[in-house]
Amino acid sequence: MTSPRLAEIFKTLELDPALVTGGDLSVISPIDGTDIGTVQRDSAAGTDAKIAAAVKAFEHWRQVPAPRRGELVRRYGDLLRRYKEPLGALVTLECGKILEEGKGEVQEMIDICDFAVGLSRQLYGLTIQSERPGHHMRETWQPLGPVGVISAFNFPVAVWAWNTAIALVCGDPVIWKPSEKTPITALVCDALLQRAIADFGADAPAGLSCVLVGERDTGEQLTGDSRVPLISATGSCRMGRQVGPKVAERFGRCLLELGGNNAIIVTDSADLDLAVPAIVFGAVGTAGQRCTSTRRIIVHESLKETLVARLKKAYAQIRIGDPLDGDTLVGPLIDGAAFEGMARAIEAARGEGGHVTGGERVRTDTHPGAYYVTPAIAEMPEQTPSMLEETFAPLLYVIGYTDLDEAIALHNGVPQGLSSAIFTTDMREAERFVSATGSDCGIANVNIGTSGAEIGGAFGGEKETGGGRESGSDSWRAYMRRQTSTVNYSHDLPLAQGIKFDL
Ligand code: NAD
Repeated sequence: MTSPRLAEIFKTLELDPALVTGGDLSVISPIDGTDIGTVQRDSAAGTDAKIAAAVKAFEHWRQVPAPRRGELVRRYGDLLRRYKEPLGALVTLECGKILEEGKGEVQEMIDICDFAVGLSRQLYGLTIQSERPGHHMRETWQPLGPVGVISAFNFPVAVWAWNTAIALVCGDPVIWKPSEKTPITALVCDALLQRAIADFGADAPAGLSCVLVGERDTGEQLTGDSRVPLISATGSCRMGRQVGPKVAERFGRCLLELGGNNAIIVTDSADLDLAVPAIVFGAVGTAGQRCTSTRRIIVHESLKETLVARLKKAYAQIRIGDPLDGDTLVGPLIDGAAFEGMARAIEAARGEGGHVTGGERVRTDTHPGAYYVTPAIAEMPEQTPSMLEETFAPLLYVIGYTDLDEAIALHNGVPQGLSSAIFTTDMREAERFVSATGSDCGIANVNIGTSGAEIGGAFGGEKETGGGRESGSDSWRAYMRRQTSTVNYSHDLPLAQGIKFDL
């Protein structure tokens, strides 16, 4: 390990530095572009062995009563509480989000553990009235099998925790293929879970949790393996387009959490004191690298000039810098490719008649290997073709509208359908937005921005966002198999629908 910061974090977490030393995959911190450690990629044979171990673990884990499975998750949540600070700092070091957001991600892990512990005493089924005398019907939920979790760089720990806490109480082992850009946080989260597993005793089998370190090919091996009944994959629409058909080919189950192109409608009755901070946080938080980042503003023409002026004023105050520094609001982009993507999108916006401010690379003198940018605002003449794409960077498009039907049509007129919001003080406009003829997204908010979801609700989106739901509500059902049982406690064998079959 080459980073003193990482060495310090490992010391606090009481972890062996060998985990991030001497491997064949270098990990670069976006903070300064330096190599912070190396991890060992899993070979195809190693991947196969880990999947086999998960299959074996399932044989035992599915028999452990769910509330007892919840006890393991409770213990893990306790460890996360103890190590929230260093784990949050590690998230910041490896993916570049500011420390508050790094710790916020760990808080999400803790929250989902709490949720899953409660859930472990529920996992409710149904009883159903039978049409046949002396019969009863019920619907129960059974453990499904090993769950493959593929995750993106921008939420390197929370997304795995959403899946894992729920999968574990549902009776499923978890095989995690993290982003190749953030494998250290994955190895650390797993090492802490292994600690909880070791303390738990014989009920928690080896192979209950593992990490596959690797790139796309490792993910492909996991998605193609029919021993893994559910693949929960978070990442770009491009990735989902490859993973979806591959899993479908073997009749596996997929939970896809893909890209967003999230918009906020600001109506002429909006309270701008609420709207402005919500837009700024949504557009520049995590340097615009959240799936729920605000990418488009659709504002009533009468307010457009005022809103843009206030946004520009707020943007001028944003402190860009080292995300480990408590004063920083916007950290770096993940890498040079992300910066190039932003530069290309800005060029396209200008070519389409847009007026763009911001988007310059900064801190090149102090951090030549890193990619810090000033967040950009693009005032567009209409919803142009480049606005239909997700650019994973702090680039905010602004367009005007005159009536709400037009605003909603523009809002829904993109291929993705993750998060959305309206700012209004008109009850009719608010209710329309969250009605069947309003937003077509999985998340639709009123007077609150597009990013920053709570774990209690089901999280996910429609259209090219993939249709998956994870985290709270009844998302747990994706991790179990549904079974309908009819039990005959009579002395006769009546057939359904009154069919006679006399022998
Ligand atoms: P990415 O698609 O490049 O990679 C995501 C993961 O998929 C990585 O682990 C990668 O190795 C793996 N992968 C890529 N191709 C694969 C394949 N063919 N088979 C199996 N695995 C494959 O995404 P990224 O750049 O890490 O993350 C940014 C994207 O993720 C954005 O589009 C963002 O909106 C999206 N995202 C969505 C959500 C959500 O909940 N909807 C959450 C976070 C990020």
